[in-house]
Amino acid sequence: MATSPPAYTTEYLHRALAHFFGYNEFRHSQLSIIQNVLAGEDVLVIMPTGGGKSICYQLPAVLLPGVAIVVSPLIALMKDQVDALRANGIRAAYLNSSQTQEEQQEVVRAARSGELKLLYIAPERIPANNAAFFTFLRQVNPSLFAVDEAHCISSWGHDFRPEYLKLAILKKEMPGVPMIALTASADKVTQKDIAERLTLQDPKLFLSSFNRPNIHYHILPKKNTMGHIIEYIRRHRDDSGIIYALSRASTEEIAKKLRDHGINAAHYHAGMDAASRSTIQEAFQRDEIRVIVATIAFGMGIDKSNVRFVIHHDVSKNIEGYYQETGRAGRDGLRSDAILYYTVGDIVKLRKFAINEEDPQQAAISKRKLQLMQDYCEHEGCRRQYLMQYFGEAFPAYCGSCDYCLTSLEEKDATEDAQMLLSAVVRTGERYGAYYLADVLRGSASEKMNQAHKELKTYGIGKHLKKDEWLWMAKQLTGGGYLQKSDDAFGILRITDNGWKILRGEAQLKLVIRKEVQEQQADNEPTYE
Ligand code: ADP
Ligand code: ZN
Repeated sequence: MATSPPAYTTEYLHRALAHFFGYNEFRHSQLSIIQNVLAGEDVLVIMPTGGGKSICYQLPAVLLPGVAIVVSPLIALMKDQVDALRANGIRAAYLNSSQTQEEQQEVVRAARSGELKLLYIAPERIPANNAAFFTFLRQVNPSLFAVDEAHCISSWGHDFRPEYLKLAILKKEMPGVPMIALTASADKVTQKDIAERLTLQDPKLFLSSFNRPNIHYHILPKKNTMGHIIEYIRRHRDDSGIIYALSRASTEEIAKKLRDHGINAAHYHAGMDAASRSTIQEAFQRDEIRVIVATIAFGMGIDKSNVRFVIHHDVSKNIEGYYQETGRAGRDGLRSDAILYYTVGDIVKLRKFAINEEDPQQAAISKRKLQLMQDYCEHEGCRRQYLMQYFGEAFPAYCGSCDYCLTSLEEKDATEDAQMLLSAVVRTGERYGAYYLADVLRGSASEKMNQAHKELKTYGIGKHLKKDEWLWMAKQLTGGGYLQKSDDAFGILRITDNGWKILRGEAQLKLVIRKEVQEQQADNEPTYE
């Protein structure tokens, strides 16, 4: 009689986690993701950087018979991962263009003879149409396919790599092998695109919260930026951090200025040779260099837990990139800062790059993403709320740890105003947008207004607030998940279950008011000698 497959009970998986990786607990949704992969399901995992994506395929890989095929775009990262696995006694290897022919042959042999549990492959090594490659795959008996940095397959993502498109062949050739696609950055459109392009079958989506409560977000006007940065670093004399700048030349310039001020800093960009880059990365990792000034080439795959600040000297091209970069701060969970210096001039510069992209469709996407980046920088509200909404999460209008929330704010009980607006939504039949509702509340005499609405109890009860303030309130209620806004141009507002709780008086709404934003910012501007 055949032996029955092992039962992957929670207890068994905990023991396996401790045995192979030395961890006592699963984080977030790791356990549930792993159970689905072990059950042969396709899954799409969206988890922030540092969240612990690797375990989600590495643990199933060691438990399942056969070899897990891991597609990963970054050669340096691949090597780190394989080294770490080997250090844990797990048989893993990689295939990429950095190896000699002999080395590659040896890996192929090891995979064929069942000596490996994980095989990392660079996407360009997967041929679009190559019988020999699939013969090889069948020989190694893949336990699962893991596609790391899966957003690279989507032109909606911020880092589209055409070679990823070929990965669709994996599912096509071997539909029975479960596929796990992982990424740290994908808005809703990108999520859908990933699933479609990889032809995931009925994939389960695991969306971890993107919130990083220990990171404090600040956006400052780009004025006397170097003076500000130098003072900041001096005030945090024991901390290390990363400064991102747009051009290679400016990383060198900024690093030099910091050194001139006695700060232990080095630059890093893709124009440097591989050896100097890894020397600098390692020195940073060992705390021998305190500040790295880098282009966005720096960071993928660095696993330094005590990065205390990430500074954007220049505006990022899009929110995904910005968020991924800020996410390199505070992986140890301790308080960290993300500071961005904003000027509309940077947007103008970046727009030129975007417009000049070859593919017109790509150019349009880049322009749209840049627009949202600008909206974020100019957002009159909680930064964190904006970011969370960008990634499709509802979040209250006050986080208490971004520059907006930290500027002398006043908390106000807004329950009554919220009830007025919610009641206007309900009484007009959940068929109108914020503009119309504000008119109802303010008792507008406009002829365009439905006559029946002039007879409502809510008609004219909200004259104490200006139209703008009602629009702002609608935004707060939508952001907080009390109202839902239709995706179309009408922006129709509908009440949610949480909204009903407020309307029925079962919950209260506290809002944070900051009326004279501009003036306060000017007052709080630090001065430098
Ligand atoms: P990601 O790929 O999502 O950026 P990693 O898989 O590299 O994240 O994990 C980030 C860090 O968290 C690594 O140092 C990893 O060893 C650690 N880690 C992952 N899962 C756990 C866990 N369950 N318990 C403790 N540490 C974990
Ligand atoms: Zn906030």
